[in-house]
Amino acid sequence: MPRLSEVIAALDSLWPPGRAEQWDAVGTVCGDPGAEVRRVLFAVDPVQEIADEAIRLGADLLVTHHPLYLRGTSTVAASTFKGRVVHDLIKHDVALHVAHTNADTADPGVSDALAGALGLRVLRPLVPDPSDPAGRRGLGRVCELDHPLSLREFGARAAERLPAAAQGVRVAGDQDAVVRTVAVSGGSGDGLFDQARNAGVDAFLTADLRHHPVSEAIQTSTLGLVDAAHWATEWPWCEQAAAQLDEISDRHGWDLRVHVSKTVTDPWSAHFAPTDAVTPSAPGAPARSPGAPN
Ligand SMILES: [Zn+2]
Repeated sequence: MPRLSEVIAALDSLWPPGRAEQWDAVGTVCGDPGAEVRRVLFAVDPVQEIADEAIRLGADLLVTHHPLYLRGTSTVAASTFKGRVVHDLIKHDVALHVAHTNADTADPGVSDALAGALGLRVLRPLVPDPSDPAGRRGLGRVCELDHPLSLREFGARAAERLPAAAQGVRVAGDQDAVVRTVAVSGGSGDGLFDQARNAGVDAFLTADLRHHPVSEAIQTSTLGLVDAAHWATEWPWCEQAAAQLDEISDRHGWDLRVHVSKTVTDPWSAHFAPTDAVTPSAPGAPARSPGAPN
């Protein structure tokens, strides 16, 4: 049975903490390096539901993509939600370890898993890591489809293949435009519009896209935009990461039990699609302003 320190060393070999962004907070949040690890749970968010799940499962280690304390803290009192998570984990001997931007830019990383879930072939990073001479690490991925789809069909494929979150998938741009190449970036990607445009791809799939950047992007370029739930774009990494740890475990003869949480932790939990009757531009619908009472 490996010690926590050995499992963490294995995780650090996959996602070296030194490759995280300066502003990030990766690494071990709590845990005794000498404790034995039998069961590991991977999840996107270190929220209470996930801590509860790790405890129920009898996990010794919870690995999440998002940090618990991104901006540091001066208290872990259980009267705060994050302190409660820390208390519950420590009380039940569950360690917490975070791999965030160091997993984003890894090879394979978060966007490779996203591309895989979408059935895309990865060509190269969208924003290569200058310190990687092989040019395989970096943020986002430039990918190609097996066969061309319309932007509408590509959006539908994303909705079908990504794990279901309430938000679903939104598409901006010419729905009938042909999509052969796609840039993808797991998590919030609206800082990468310029890179996606410069990559010459037909579409860009990411999360957390906002009105003004999207509005400007579709006025000034033919780039199709696909906005999925943040959690849904990062969840495929959990399966990829679990498979990577399984492989390391086999190699060391560790017999770890590695699990992936299927709990949806995207914070949006309901979505109401407009009906044709209240869509202002729907053909045949009476003109009305958005938000007008029924
Ligand atoms: Zn994220």
